[in-house]
Amino acid sequence: MYEFELEELEAATENFSPSNLISKGSHGRVYRGVLNNGKHVAIKKQSSGLLDSSKIEHEARMLSSIHHNSCLVDFLGIGHDASDNKLIVMEHMPNGTLHDLLRAPVTPPPTWRKRLDIALQVANGVRFLHESNKPPIVHRDIKSANILLDSNWDAKLADFGLSVTLAGDNSATLPAGTIGYLDPDYNTPSKLSTKIDVFSYGVVLLELISCREVLDVRKSPASIVEWAVPLIKQGRFLEVCDERTRLRPHQRRKVECLLSLAARCVFPVERLRPSMGEIVATLEDPKTEPFRFPLTMINFFRRAILNTRKINSTTVKKIVANSESKK
Ligand code: ATP
Repeated sequence: MYEFELEELEAATENFSPSNLISKGSHGRVYRGVLNNGKHVAIKKQSSGLLDSSKIEHEARMLSSIHHNSCLVDFLGIGHDASDNKLIVMEHMPNGTLHDLLRAPVTPPPTWRKRLDIALQVANGVRFLHESNKPPIVHRDIKSANILLDSNWDAKLADFGLSVTLAGDNSATLPAGTIGYLDPDYNTPSKLSTKIDVFSYGVVLLELISCREVLDVRKSPASIVEWAVPLIKQGRFLEVCDERTRLRPHQRRKVECLLSLAARCVFPVERLRPSMGEIVATLEDPKTEPFRFPLTMINFFRRAILNTRKINSTTVKKIVANSESKK
């Protein structure tokens, strides 16, 4: 793992000047900077005095074990500040997060072509984690706020603070993630699998196409999954689509395919969800037709939604607490 000198990172960020602050997260701040060689970087700096510094330590370890892939934010190395807090140095992604892009008040919403490209780029990133790493890596926090956009507006997956390798005994790995994107069935360590990322990816697809918040308590149902999936299964695709962007006739079939793929990704039975390899193949195949859901699958989904609503709030609170303590 390449270790940067603190002087170089201080010079790059003008001593971590507030004017270079990009974001203040729960466990640290992210600064933009320019290295001696002219490369633009983002530097994640762990907050001083943090009682639990394990998330950023863990993220640095995970990043150093993952090979380069064009659909993942590039990791360049680590550093330490004067108080020995860890610094993570990454390529700078100047166009912000997918979450913000979808809700930007001034810039026009992304075109359908762009949304399809982003869906494929993210799918390729997750597939790389699942299928090109031995043992596979489960990201566990796939969400639009962790999908960043480079200078060409290409999407890359970021934030590996909750990622884990699927190696042997994961019985100590407590469930964690972000409510709204988290597979409701992932409530014990034994349920850890790559299919929990497939679920979260499905939620991102629904968000990408509808632009709705994944949990919106002002709406009924509040959950994007409970709202969109019944519409998709009834073939009412247009009602799910972001109406700010005009859908041209030749794009309609592709967007319908994407929506039926999203509904399969969030299917309650994880073994019936597609793998990320299948998802990439479906997205790349120009001849793909929207999936027709058999009636048994539709009824099953209806029952599962009713059961999900019964998840008692302590389970949800427990998962949020784990995720917070991991961060
Ligand atoms: P939180 O725990 O609050 O989700 P975090 O500490 O896990 O945050 P990240 O989610 O990795 O940190 O990053 C926080 C924000 O910093 C991102 O939403 C993004 O706006 C910005 N950011 C992170 N990495 C980069 C990058 N490589 N380039 C540009 N901006 C970045």
